[in-house]
Amino acid sequence: MINLELPRKLRAGANQAHQVAAEIMRPVSRKYDLAEHAYPVELDTMAAMIEGMSDAGNEVGGAKGGRESGEPKPSKTANANGGNMAALVNVIETCWGDVGLTLSVPYQGLGNSAIAAVATDEQLERFGKVWASMAITEPSFGSDSAAVSTTAVLDGDEWVLNGEKIYVTAGERSTHIVVWATVDKSKGRAAIKSFVVPRDAPGLSVARLEHKLGIKASDTAALLLDNCRIPKDNLLGSPDVDTDKGFAGVMQTFDNTRPLVAGMAIGVARAALEELRSILTEAGVEIDYDAPTYSLSAPAAEYIRLESDWEAAYLLALRAAWMADNKEPNSLQASMSKAKAGRSASDITLKAVELAGTLGYSQHLLLEKWARDSKILDIFEGTQQIQQLIVARRVLGLSSAQLK
Ligand SMILES: Cc1cc2nc3c(=O)[nH]c(=O)nc-3n(C[C@H](O)[C@H](O)[C@H](O)COP(=O)(O)OP(=O)(O)OC[C@H]3O[C@@H](n4cnc5c(N)ncnc54)[C@H](O)[C@@H]3O)c2cc1C
Repeated sequence: MINLELPRKLRAGANQAHQVAAEIMRPVSRKYDLAEHAYPVELDTMAAMIEGMSDAGNEVGGAKGGRESGEPKPSKTANANGGNMAALVNVIETCWGDVGLTLSVPYQGLGNSAIAAVATDEQLERFGKVWASMAITEPSFGSDSAAVSTTAVLDGDEWVLNGEKIYVTAGERSTHIVVWATVDKSKGRAAIKSFVVPRDAPGLSVARLEHKLGIKASDTAALLLDNCRIPKDNLLGSPDVDTDKGFAGVMQTFDNTRPLVAGMAIGVARAALEELRSILTEAGVEIDYDAPTYSLSAPAAEYIRLESDWEAAYLLALRAAWMADNKEPNSLQASMSKAKAGRSASDITLKAVELAGTLGYSQHLLLEKWARDSKILDIFEGTQQIQQLIVARRVLGLSSAQLK
């Protein structure tokens, strides 16, 4: 029989993350929802706690994933749970607390996953402890990440970057930004590389912060790169332009980050399910798993449907993270997990609003906030439609040129 319980080591980390979520995030969740762009000072306490927990061997909170400097690469036969699985189970807990605050936890940015996925050991040594956001999107494109137009030109020992990046999560607060830029537009997607840009690099500035539907605690910035200079060895991975490989190098980042975004969706959806269950129970709705669906009340049947959807999303994310830890190619599973979790979280949180009636729609509870917060998880790091496209291509064995 398969044992689906979390191993003890992961459970300890997840318990600590849950404590952070329950004791620090939840109490200030509404406050920062109502105060968009205010810096959540509680994050400083959180950062100190998280630093302590990381030193003790647990990665807590956000979206780091991947491996640390000096951490051995798991062998194919190790059957190991590593950084990806730890980050997944922890991010589920912190997003049960608050998605926007999780995205703002210092030193746990999506750019950290990019670094973990493609950095050399020497770069991991230099960038292992930074707080990195991720800047791919530009005014001229979102989903079509092969359309990067920001340029990087080598000038002596420095790269000179020019372009505009928009909707960068933690783009104002992070210490570093992983920027996607092309080193040679004529070579297409193979020439797209990722660069670690320190916040104080000359030529980098924040143009504005966005106002959003949800995750208001998270700063979302537009960034300008105007002759922005960074050291030559801040290019992540290989500088070679291999037209046979396309942009497999930078795309590898998504194999790590998509299961984590799925985890965020799973966390906020679980929060909504738990709240809904207690409301239904208080209203006298009996949720009986052994009874046939036709004999259940409509809300009970709906609740069980939502819960089983949630479970499918959870299992898909566990599989994708486990494959990443064990160096198994997981692009298909990463996209499946994000597609399922993003869709389910939107459905679950909105249904919870619906089933809870006026209570669900009011600001007395956090249900309406979770419904707003969850939508982004079906958009960034590749929308629902893009994940489905990737899954279809992989299942049918078609290239991106054959199936658009
Ligand atoms: C709050 C927030 C935070 C973000 N954070 C970051 C970040 O940290 N870093 C970053 O780089 N970007 C970030 N983004 C940008 C995000 O990744 C993009 O919004 C996303 O990739 C979609 O791009 P788009 O908005 O340009 O939509 P478009 O690509 O224009 O898509 C519009 C619609 O068309 C659909 N569509 C597009 N192409 C196809 C197709 N081939 N087949 C079927 N349907 C298709 C899409 O699914 C979508 O529904 C963020 C966005 C938001 C809102």
